[in-house]
Amino acid sequence: MARTAFYYHPDYLEHQAGPDHPERPERLIALMEGLERSALLDQLGVRQPGPAQVQSLTRIHSPGHVEHIARLSALGRMVSLGPDTGLSPATYHAACLAVGAVEEAIDAVAAGEVDNAFCAVRPPGHHAERDQAMGFCYFNNVAIGARHLQERHHLDRVAIIDWDVHHGNGTQHSFEEDPTVFFFSIHQFGPYFYPGTGAVHEQGRGPGLGYTLNAPMPPGSTDADYLRVFRQVLRPAVDRFRPEFILISAGFDAHQADPLGEMELSAEGFAALTAQARSMAEDHCQGRLVSLLEGGYDLEATAASVEAHLRVLMA
Ligand SMILES: [Zn+2]
Repeated sequence: MARTAFYYHPDYLEHQAGPDHPERPERLIALMEGLERSALLDQLGVRQPGPAQVQSLTRIHSPGHVEHIARLSALGRMVSLGPDTGLSPATYHAACLAVGAVEEAIDAVAAGEVDNAFCAVRPPGHHAERDQAMGFCYFNNVAIGARHLQERHHLDRVAIIDWDVHHGNGTQHSFEEDPTVFFFSIHQFGPYFYPGTGAVHEQGRGPGLGYTLNAPMPPGSTDADYLRVFRQVLRPAVDRFRPEFILISAGFDAHQADPLGEMELSAEGFAALTAQARSMAEDHCQGRLVSLLEGGYDLEATAASVEAHLRVLMA
């Protein structure tokens, strides 16, 4: 049995991204209720993180962007940041708690206190750019986590695996010239599908060339299609890179029931992807792995998929 830590904060429920928004507090309510029903939560225990400091956020974001989000949250009302992303008074605090969970999870795994960890956070992060909130994301949780590993724990090579159905544009742009962070994204790709980046020819730039790996997939892709890419494309790339730590941008919106994605994955499929990631972590980094929630908009499917994901992390 692995020792798995689970991070969650009730203040994640206070953040609102807009009226009738798919990225809603009910996602985490359903997730927590599911884990309670299956008694997994008793086994795991819940660790409540503190908020990340501004110095953590500016590892990836401009000080101006951080101030902008803080200032708009302080207005005390809903503010629109664009067609799909709004901001509420609780957004800045919740977003800082999301980054805080990732940092604390990393610290616990790096210290050997636990083997791996999952962070049930919102808002998600992988679309957030250096200077811009987008796609329901304000601060890039996983990208800040990778820098935290390098700056606080002095690691040379960090791998990020992003299986959210949308391309992790913000994460890719954070590291595209950086050979010390390997970024892999498997996502739905095609005309009109958000955010439009993540083509196979996007492989990084300058010294980072070859350290970005995109697997764009057509709508309708299945568990078997994803697993084939993990075995035949991701695994050899990770074996060459030899990461010292693996982070997972775990979105569950490639599930067949998801209203935003058009993929055909199942909870068992996510369990199989988790087993692949765990085996890579075991072969290269003594199992050190931290996973964090990105998307996933069908309440039941996301709850079931997170449970399946956790069972493999804990096995
Ligand atoms: Zn997504």
